[in-house]
Amino acid sequence: MSARPIARGWAWVGCCDDGPMAETQQTPSPPDRPVARPFASPAGVVRAMVVEDEESLASLIGSYLEREGFEVRLVHDGAAAVRAAREVDPDIVVLDLGLPGLDGVEVCRQLRTFSDAYVVMLTAREDEVDKLIGLSVGADDYMTKPFSPRELVARLRAMLRRPRMSPAGRAADQESHRFGPLVVDPVGREVWLDNEPVSLTRTEFDLLATLAQRPQMAFSRQQLIEAVWGQSWVGDEHLVDVHIGHLRRKLADDAVNARFVRTMRGVGYRMGTGQ
Ligand code: CA
Repeated sequence: MSARPIARGWAWVGCCDDGPMAETQQTPSPPDRPVARPFASPAGVVRAMVVEDEESLASLIGSYLEREGFEVRLVHDGAAAVRAAREVDPDIVVLDLGLPGLDGVEVCRQLRTFSDAYVVMLTAREDEVDKLIGLSVGADDYMTKPFSPRELVARLRAMLRRPRMSPAGRAADQESHRFGPLVVDPVGREVWLDNEPVSLTRTEFDLLATLAQRPQMAFSRQQLIEAVWGQSWVGDEHLVDVHIGHLRRKLADDAVNARFVRTMRGVGYRMGTGQ
């Protein structure tokens, strides 16, 4: 594997784990666009982990992320990924599904017990994505190999822009929202239920905050995708339902008689009153 040349530039990488890499259009130079810092995270540098057992692919992804100004840690097996995540406390994790030892599903499950990092899972086959969404492992997004590293970076940037959903000046969006016993604080990114903090992943929080900021509005799944995953996201709208399911479970909400996240039949979702 190590003899494989690392494709740079506009390339589609990572065909599958045990076969030859997909056709790559190799150019010798690094990406030609100017590298702009994508955002100013209030916490400073974005910490990224790349978990991929194909070392050349891990390095390639890592080099793209470093160019974005991220601090990157490469990890090549699942157990090491969980250990490293406890140490690094990553903001984003690019996680291969097929890993030796602990696979990506199990790594994601374990990560979710202590981390709210954005997780993008890499899969070797398109049909695995449906299976993974069904398994509800808690990844925020999925990409099928081969993929363009630029597309990966674009998606990560879109995810990392999400906390800006309350820009300064839109005072109404900065207030906490109360729905009976539920309080959603979009600025502090905190949720309280019966005066107890609720631990949500970033995607779950963003979905809830989106609904909470427009409680009169029924959102279609597509509108929620645009608000939370970004306008350029293309994929299965069912991902919304999966994250809503997680959210409801954490809010002890009932899908049929929902207090907080109501299903609008034929439309999508809207905020409930909390009653
Ligand atoms: Ca792999």
